[in-house]
Amino acid sequence: MFAWLQRRSAPPPIDEERWQRLRRRIEPVRRMPTERLDALRGLTARFLASKAITPVAGLRLDEDRRLTLAALCCLPIIDLDFEALAGWHELVVYPGQFRVRRHHHDEDTGVVAEWDDELAGEAWDRGPVIVSWADVRADLRDPGSGCSVLVHEIAHKLDVLDGAMDGAPPLPAARRAAWIAAMQPAYESLCAALAALPEGVEPDPESFPVDPYAAEAPDEFFAVVSEYHFSAPQVLREAMPEVARQLAQFYGPSPMDLPRQI
Ligand SMILES: [Zn+2]
Repeated sequence: MFAWLQRRSAPPPIDEERWQRLRRRIEPVRRMPTERLDALRGLTARFLASKAITPVAGLRLDEDRRLTLAALCCLPIIDLDFEALAGWHELVVYPGQFRVRRHHHDEDTGVVAEWDDELAGEAWDRGPVIVSWADVRADLRDPGSGCSVLVHEIAHKLDVLDGAMDGAPPLPAARRAAWIAAMQPAYESLCAALAALPEGVEPDPESFPVDPYAAEAPDEFFAVVSEYHFSAPQVLREAMPEVARQLAQFYGPSPMDLPRQI
């Protein structure tokens, strides 16, 4: 109801002082040129006006923290459109990593396996994005680490926009072909490097070009390399130049390649 009205009315603007504080808190935002910064500010205001940010398990979020979370969610969509965040309405924030119950029903054996996972973030298909505030803060403190839990989860949301969680966001046919031509060999060579490890040996993240978690599945690969694009683009360029090029085309140039503006 009144969707047309909501679309036409501008969201409440973000307070100038608060925005300047935010600029100093998020390294890629600190390095962003004015034009993109203005776009991010507009998107962040729309995010705050249209999505719920829900702290749970005793966490408290003041206005500055909410602004930080909203801006981080919008960071990957500056070159896209706010509609890229369509189909979900809530960001749920835990104080730390959270435990989820997993089930797997093996069709052949009929065995149902159940286990617990500790997660820093999760994005449900058509459901909320869930993150750990402790992990978001760790990313803010170490912005060149190659980790960004919110970029990771938003990449999953962009991936599933076309209905398939397959490691590719919606793209015109020719660009999709180029995307797959870049992503697939890089993904497969990472999988091969992991498969070459002796049995029972845990991969040492230091000896891999990117976090070996990227080899879980093509959708995780897209999410992990997206984290590098926004935090350590030079690492990605050296390890996977074609992948880096596709991401720069999709997300726009990484602000981490620029000097600080403030
Ligand atoms: Zn993931």
